[in-house]
Amino acid sequence: MIATVRRPQPLRFFFRYISIVGSSNVRHGRPKMALPELPPVTSLSPRVLRVLGCNPSVMTLQGTNTYVVGTGRRRILIDTGEPNVPEYIKNLKETMDKYNFELEHIIVSHWHRDHIGGVSDVMDAIGNKTDCKVWKFHPENEKKRVYKFPINCPINSLKNYQVFNTEGATLKVYHTPGHTTDHVMLTLEEDKALFCADCVLGEGTSIFENLEDYLESLQLILKLNPVVMYPGHGSVINNTVQRVNNYIQHRIDREREIIKILSEHPLQTMTIKDFVDVIYKGISKKLQEVATISVVQHLLKLKKEGKVLEIDDHWKINTKSNL
Ligand SMILES: [Zn+2]
Repeated sequence: MIATVRRPQPLRFFFRYISIVGSSNVRHGRPKMALPELPPVTSLSPRVLRVLGCNPSVMTLQGTNTYVVGTGRRRILIDTGEPNVPEYIKNLKETMDKYNFELEHIIVSHWHRDHIGGVSDVMDAIGNKTDCKVWKFHPENEKKRVYKFPINCPINSLKNYQVFNTEGATLKVYHTPGHTTDHVMLTLEEDKALFCADCVLGEGTSIFENLEDYLESLQLILKLNPVVMYPGHGSVINNTVQRVNNYIQHRIDREREIIKILSEHPLQTMTIKDFVDVIYKGISKKLQEVATISVVQHLLKLKKEGKVLEIDDHWKINTKSNL
């Protein structure tokens, strides 16, 4: 609908898509961002093991990272990957045998299938199902979730700032909504580390259900100032502050881009689809859905700030606002 807009940056998801499925749908002439290969099981520190969920895809990058935390006979598992992935369960069991531990807690970072989906399979595979507790944060007013896969165990409610002590590790829970309303991160005191789940990824950018909450959660990471971040997907993050600042800047840039598009045509209105077509030109249908969520969230934030107006699903710049 607007022909004069500069060609904007495509979603980083697009690069993930390109690098994973090898699509020839490359219209931007940019180099591929190859995802580093991650081994199935990695010892990241004397108290952290990463067991890859064996579920690589456009959205999960190299697969979901699940983490075993602690040094003793009883340890904590963070996230469980997807349902029905025997290869993951096999790797987890072999890791338990090799390092000689059982699980005393399973903490799920949020409700997405690629994090909670494997919980029943893990519970069935471990020998101490009756005394291993599963935890997730349940926000107030959250409706009871109906999962499309079986959950065969009670899920206990995490509290914000709850602390888990296990041999060699102290984990503290931080409720960090934005990616989802129930999303949590966990600090590992001994390593000054942060399990940041899907708030920040090892490669590319993440998606969010609520932009304002998401930005607040990013700010919380800056406050926590971890030395290292273990994300829900992708490689370990060592340049923590720089990475989070890049994420924040990426959102600021996107917001400016939306305002610029509208400001250049103050008499026109645009639909969400118009924005997606202009900003994320050429991306696949699947990624358009993701891009739509991002655009909607940016527009809602700008609307709340009085910078844009919404009239019957059409958006325009608020010329009376002091941008
Ligand atoms: Zn997620």
